Amino acid sequence: MPTLFEKIIARQIPGDIVYQDDRVTAFRDIHPRAPVHILIVPNKPIPTANDIEDSDEALVGHMFTVARDLAKREGIAENGYRLIINCNTHGGQEVYHLHVHLVGGAPLGPMLSR
Ligand code: 5GP
Repeated sequence: MPTLFEKIIARQIPGDIVYQDDRVTAFRDIHPRAPVHILIVPNKPIPTANDIEDSDEALVGHMFTVARDLAKREGIAENGYRLIINCNTHGGQEVYHLHVHLVGGAPLGPMLSR
């Protein structure tokens, strides 16, 4: 079964795609937690951070350079932003297709709340 994000990448279901190349796709989160909330995902379905292989190092690095460029394009680079990867249950992962959250556009508060 393709993941929800694979369907967005393949444009089988709607997604507000802001960037796409042969390795990654970036689209706006459907429930944004900040003025800017973009998900950067590999086009190939890696389920979680646990499943990243050594051979994926360049791909994962590319996800971060795309995040950097999108932060600049969205005008949030100078004030700052947060990049988040949730993994499995304790990490609060909802969609099992690796993704980096790029969130910013306002002060984000403490990293974790207790
Ligand atoms: P996670 O909790 O797995 O790190 O984050 C999954 C994110 O995917 C959530 O922020 C959620 O709002 C977002 N999301 C879930 N379903 C959809 C969808 O159909 N489209 C988009 N664009 N984002 C989604």
